Amino acid sequence: MTADRAALLEAIAAEVRGHVPCGFEICEQATQLVPGEGDPQARVVIVGEAPGAQEDRTGRPFVGNAGRLLDGVLAAAGLLREEVFIANVVKARPPGNRDPRADEVAHHLPWLEAQLEVIEPELVVPLGRHALARFASGLKISEAHGRVVDRGARRLFPMYHPAAALHNPSLRETLLEDARALRKALPP
Ligand code: URA
Repeated sequence: MTADRAALLEAIAAEVRGHVPCGFEICEQATQLVPGEGDPQARVVIVGEAPGAQEDRTGRPFVGNAGRLLDGVLAAAGLLREEVFIANVVKARPPGNRDPRADEVAHHLPWLEAQLEVIEPELVVPLGRHALARFASGLKISEAHGRVVDRGARRLFPMYHPAAALHNPSLRETLLEDARALRKALPP
Protein backbone atom coordinates (compact mmCIF):
# COMPACT_ATOMS: atom_id res chain seq x y z
CA MET A 1 0.00 0.00 0.00
CA THR A 2 2.87 2.37 0.85
CA ALA A 3 4.43 1.71 -2.53
CA ASP A 4 1.07 2.21 -4.22
CA ARG A 5 0.52 5.50 -2.46
CA ALA A 6 4.03 6.68 -3.26
CA ALA A 7 3.58 5.74 -6.92
CA LEU A 8 0.19 7.45 -7.12
CA LEU A 9 1.55 10.60 -5.50
CA GLU A 10 4.52 10.58 -7.83
CA ALA A 11 2.17 10.28 -10.80
CA ILE A 12 0.23 13.32 -9.58
CA ALA A 13 3.49 15.23 -9.00
CA ALA A 14 4.70 14.34 -12.50
CA GLU A 15 1.44 15.60 -13.97
CA VAL A 16 1.77 18.86 -12.03
CA ARG A 17 5.39 19.36 -13.12
CA GLY A 18 4.61 18.67 -16.75
CA HIS A 19 1.40 20.67 -16.80
CA VAL A 20 2.24 23.76 -18.87
CA PRO A 21 1.36 25.11 -21.39
CA CYS A 22 -2.26 25.53 -20.37
CA GLY A 23 -3.06 29.16 -21.15
CA PHE A 24 -3.17 30.25 -17.49
CA GLU A 25 -0.80 33.13 -16.71
CA ILE A 26 -0.17 31.82 -13.20
CA CYS A 27 1.12 28.48 -14.52
CA GLU A 28 3.02 29.78 -17.51
CA GLN A 29 4.82 32.58 -15.64
CA ALA A 30 5.99 30.30 -12.83
CA THR A 31 9.57 29.02 -12.94
CA GLN A 32 8.12 25.63 -12.12
CA LEU A 33 5.03 24.22 -10.46
CA VAL A 34 5.35 22.94 -6.89
CA PRO A 35 3.38 19.72 -6.36
CA GLY A 36 4.09 19.22 -2.65
CA GLU A 37 6.06 16.53 -0.85
CA GLY A 38 6.16 14.30 2.17
CA ASP A 39 5.26 10.93 3.61
CA PRO A 40 2.71 9.05 1.48
CA GLN A 41 1.45 7.55 4.77
CA ALA A 42 1.21 10.90 6.53
CA ARG A 43 -1.37 11.22 9.30
CA VAL A 44 -1.36 14.97 8.74
CA VAL A 45 -1.46 16.97 5.51
CA ILE A 46 -0.47 20.62 5.78
CA VAL A 47 -2.11 22.84 3.14
CA GLY A 48 -0.77 26.28 2.29
CA GLU A 49 -2.14 28.74 -0.20
CA ALA A 50 0.41 28.94 -3.03
CA PRO A 51 4.18 28.81 -3.49
CA GLY A 52 6.24 31.94 -2.86
CA ALA A 53 9.49 33.05 -4.48
CA GLN A 54 11.76 30.47 -2.85
CA GLU A 55 9.33 27.65 -3.55
CA ASP A 56 9.08 28.78 -7.19
CA ARG A 57 12.88 28.65 -7.42
CA THR A 58 13.36 25.29 -5.70
CA GLY A 59 10.18 23.41 -6.62
CA ARG A 60 9.62 22.54 -2.94
CA PRO A 61 6.86 23.77 -0.62
CA PHE A 62 7.50 26.00 2.41
CA VAL A 63 11.25 26.39 2.12
CA GLY A 64 11.41 30.16 2.78
CA ASN A 65 10.94 32.12 6.02
CA ALA A 66 7.38 30.90 6.47
CA GLY A 67 8.69 27.36 5.97
CA ARG A 68 11.25 27.76 8.73
CA LEU A 69 8.51 28.88 11.07
CA LEU A 70 6.35 25.98 9.91
CA ASP A 71 9.18 23.59 10.89
CA GLY A 72 9.07 25.06 14.41
CA VAL A 73 5.29 24.70 14.50
CA LEU A 74 5.58 21.07 13.43
CA ALA A 75 8.21 20.45 16.11
CA ALA A 76 5.84 21.89 18.74
CA ALA A 77 3.23 19.46 17.44
CA GLY A 78 5.72 16.60 17.86
CA LEU A 79 5.98 16.14 14.11
CA LEU A 80 8.90 16.06 11.73
CA ARG A 81 8.59 17.62 8.30
CA GLU A 82 9.41 14.17 6.83
CA GLU A 83 6.42 12.52 8.47
CA VAL A 84 3.76 14.93 7.22
CA PHE A 85 2.78 15.82 3.67
CA ILE A 86 3.03 19.49 2.72
CA ALA A 87 1.13 20.88 -0.24
CA ASN A 88 -0.57 24.01 -1.47
CA VAL A 89 -4.04 24.66 -2.88
CA VAL A 90 -2.46 26.38 -5.87
CA LYS A 91 0.69 24.79 -7.25
CA ALA A 92 2.13 27.83 -9.06
CA ARG A 93 3.42 31.09 -7.63
CA PRO A 94 0.97 33.90 -8.37
CA PRO A 95 2.78 36.70 -10.25
CA GLY A 96 3.94 39.34 -7.78
CA ASN A 97 2.66 37.14 -4.92
CA ARG A 98 -0.91 38.36 -5.43
CA ASP A 99 -3.80 36.26 -4.12
CA PRO A 100 -4.78 33.46 -6.50
CA ARG A 101 -7.98 34.16 -8.44
CA ALA A 102 -11.04 31.91 -8.16
CA ASP A 103 -10.53 30.48 -11.66
CA GLU A 104 -6.91 29.69 -10.81
CA VAL A 105 -7.95 27.92 -7.61
CA ALA A 106 -10.51 25.90 -9.59
CA HIS A 107 -7.80 25.07 -12.16
CA HIS A 108 -5.44 23.69 -9.46
CA LEU A 109 -7.72 22.27 -6.77
CA PRO A 110 -8.25 18.84 -8.39
CA TRP A 111 -4.56 18.03 -7.78
CA LEU A 112 -4.86 18.68 -4.06
CA GLU A 113 -8.08 16.68 -3.94
CA ALA A 114 -6.31 13.81 -5.72
CA GLN A 115 -3.39 13.96 -3.26
CA LEU A 116 -5.75 13.87 -0.29
CA GLU A 117 -7.66 10.95 -1.79
CA VAL A 118 -4.43 8.96 -2.03
CA ILE A 119 -3.05 9.87 1.41
CA GLU A 120 -6.33 9.72 3.37
CA PRO A 121 -4.84 11.64 6.30
CA GLU A 122 -6.40 11.74 9.74
CA LEU A 123 -6.16 15.51 9.79
CA VAL A 124 -5.95 18.19 7.13
CA VAL A 125 -4.35 21.39 8.41
CA PRO A 126 -5.33 24.38 6.28
CA LEU A 127 -2.96 27.27 6.95
CA GLY A 128 -4.66 30.65 6.89
CA ARG A 129 -7.98 31.88 5.62
CA HIS A 130 -7.42 31.20 1.91
CA ALA A 131 -6.62 27.52 2.42
CA LEU A 132 -9.41 27.20 5.00
CA ALA A 133 -11.91 28.61 2.50
CA ARG A 134 -11.21 25.66 0.18
CA PHE A 135 -12.38 23.21 2.83
CA ALA A 136 -14.90 25.14 4.90
CA SER A 137 -16.21 28.26 3.24
CA GLY A 138 -17.88 30.55 5.74
CA LEU A 139 -15.59 29.56 8.61
CA LYS A 140 -13.32 32.28 9.92
CA ILE A 141 -9.72 31.36 10.70
CA SER A 142 -9.89 33.59 13.80
CA GLU A 143 -12.70 31.39 15.15
CA ALA A 144 -11.73 27.97 13.79
CA HIS A 145 -7.98 27.87 14.45
CA GLY A 146 -6.47 25.43 16.93
CA ARG A 147 -9.26 22.86 17.08
CA VAL A 148 -10.69 19.96 15.14
CA VAL A 149 -13.47 20.90 12.72
CA ASP A 150 -15.36 18.06 11.07
CA ARG A 151 -16.43 18.81 7.51
CA GLY A 152 -18.18 15.82 5.99
CA ALA A 153 -15.76 12.91 5.98
CA ARG A 154 -12.82 15.26 6.46
CA ARG A 155 -11.28 16.28 9.79
CA LEU A 156 -9.73 19.72 9.63
CA PHE A 157 -7.41 21.38 12.09
CA PRO A 158 -7.17 24.99 10.85
CA MET A 159 -4.18 27.08 11.85
CA TYR A 160 -2.98 30.58 11.10
CA HIS A 161 -0.60 30.86 8.17
CA PRO A 162 3.03 31.10 9.38
CA ALA A 163 3.54 34.09 7.04
CA ALA A 164 0.86 35.94 9.05
CA ALA A 165 2.86 35.24 12.22
CA LEU A 166 5.98 36.64 10.55
CA HIS A 167 4.14 39.90 10.00
CA ASN A 168 2.33 39.83 13.34
CA PRO A 169 4.56 38.38 16.07
CA SER A 170 1.70 38.07 18.56
CA LEU A 171 0.29 35.33 16.32
CA ARG A 172 3.46 33.32 16.79
CA GLU A 173 2.52 32.24 20.32
CA THR A 174 -1.01 31.40 19.12
CA LEU A 175 0.49 29.27 16.37
CA LEU A 176 2.67 27.38 18.85
CA GLU A 177 -0.23 26.93 21.24
CA ASP A 178 -2.31 25.55 18.38
CA ALA A 179 0.57 23.24 17.48
CA ARG A 180 0.48 21.79 20.99
CA ALA A 181 -3.29 21.32 20.61
CA LEU A 182 -2.63 19.56 17.30
CA ARG A 183 -0.33 17.15 19.11
CA LYS A 184 -3.17 16.30 21.51
CA ALA A 185 -5.59 15.84 18.61
CA LEU A 186 -3.33 13.07 17.27
CA PRO A 187 -3.52 10.04 19.55
CA PRO A 188 -0.21 8.06 19.64
N1 URA B 1 3.32 30.05 1.58
C1 URA B 1 2.47 29.09 1.17
O1 URA B 1 1.25 29.19 1.32
N2 URA B 1 2.98 28.01 0.59
C2 URA B 1 4.28 27.82 0.42
O2 URA B 1 4.67 26.79 -0.11
C3 URA B 1 5.15 28.83 0.88
C4 URA B 1 4.66 29.94 1.45
